[in-house]
Amino acid sequence: MAEKEIQGVEVTCPCGETLDVGAHGAPGGGFVTPDGQYVLLLMELKRGFQEFFAETTAGRRDEWIKAQFGYGWPCSGEDAEYLEEFVHHCISRHSRIVYECHKCGRLLIDSKKSDELELISYCADDKSFHGMLDRELRND
Ligand SMILES: [Zn+2]
Repeated sequence: MAEKEIQGVEVTCPCGETLDVGAHGAPGGGFVTPDGQYVLLLMELKRGFQEFFAETTAGRRDEWIKAQFGYGWPCSGEDAEYLEEFVHHCISRHSRIVYECHKCGRLLIDSKKSDELELISYCADDKSFHGMLDRELRND
């Protein structure tokens, strides 16, 4: 699976602040999923889960794992680990990486024009940091 591996990378915000974008899960980072990609993401997840369970039932679980992640991928893990990795890959494919500058509040969003990280900045109206990507989401 082609996916950007972003670890230990520093980017400079237009305000001059240096952001250590680090690995997934770093503070101030996240994903943006456009509506059209969200539908595709759900379809890919559904297809992948159906295939995983069908292949597992048919005794071809390892083949599914190798087809998804490559032939060097170990197959001795728990099912939930592979499904989590599959979900992560799907989200990465259908979303753009986004970072929020902790100094000026700009959102820096990956253009996804290539395999290289190319961030486009969007400036907040009041030019202050809001911690938008680190806030809890209300689900009620
Ligand atoms: Zn900034």
